[in-house]
Amino acid sequence: MVCADVGGTTVKSALISVGRVRIPQSFKIKKFTCVQTRSDGGFAGVRESVLEAIKGVTSEDAADIVAIATAGEVNWDDGVVVRATSSLPGFENYAFSDDMSDALGVRTVVINDACAAAVCEHYFAKKRAESTLVLTIGTGLGSALVKDGRIDGDNVTDLELGHRLFVENGYECRCGKRGCLEQYLSATAIKRDAGTSTVKEALTNTGSEKCIQAKRNFLSALNYTVGMIEREFSPAEILIGGGLAEMKYLWLEEFYGKYGHPEVKAAKLGNKAGLLGAAYAALNGFFKGKQRGKGVRNV
Ligand SMILES: [Zn+2]
Repeated sequence: MVCADVGGTTVKSALISVGRVRIPQSFKIKKFTCVQTRSDGGFAGVRESVLEAIKGVTSEDAADIVAIATAGEVNWDDGVVVRATSSLPGFENYAFSDDMSDALGVRTVVINDACAAAVCEHYFAKKRAESTLVLTIGTGLGSALVKDGRIDGDNVTDLELGHRLFVENGYECRCGKRGCLEQYLSATAIKRDAGTSTVKEALTNTGSEKCIQAKRNFLSALNYTVGMIEREFSPAEILIGGGLAEMKYLWLEEFYGKYGHPEVKAAKLGNKAGLLGAAYAALNGFFKGKQRGKGVRNV
């Protein structure tokens, strides 16, 4: 099967083969591509990037189902993107699953990217935790919780913590509110506070007061968020995914030193988690309503 992971910066895609028994160990990535998300081309540019990525890995016998993980809030029942980041222009209220099914001529399901990552980290783990909470910190802030139990979409929740109020009358958010957590806990926030064009520069420049402060703000916002998560959800594990997980060597030790929280770890499956999680969810009947379709369990 084919899957894609649509983010504000890149669209990743993979051709995946799965054994007869669809256990995680049987999932193999046969082909992988990554293309730039052409946000500057507006909606049409992003849509083209998605199609290009998917077609780039599709072989003749491959695609009986396509599973897409995407940034933004997704309606599980019909695959419509309810809310999207500004880096995916025109995706608000976009019937992503319907449009891709038509364009590709193959049944296509769409899942929120943090949910897909959480599904992957939870089910692909060597030892499955009682519950797994994944925070994806990248262009935006994603959050999803998977509870162990039946292998089922009902156990997966998009928490949307990124739009919780964090600072009264703070920075304006893409959702229309002010002071949302995402405006303080994301790559975008770090770059804004540091005045740099890359996160790496912001986290490594120890000679700049602005960069030092940006890092301090980031760690403090994360500490606040972890505390909130523990009080409200008490998950067995908290995993950090997204772009900031790939740069964990630049900040994670400092976070432990300052705030403790040894239960916070970087996600293990890194940038493949969205792809594998979307595939796993599609092949195990996690989708409901219009997205369920017929015969999904028999793909
Ligand atoms: Zn918001």
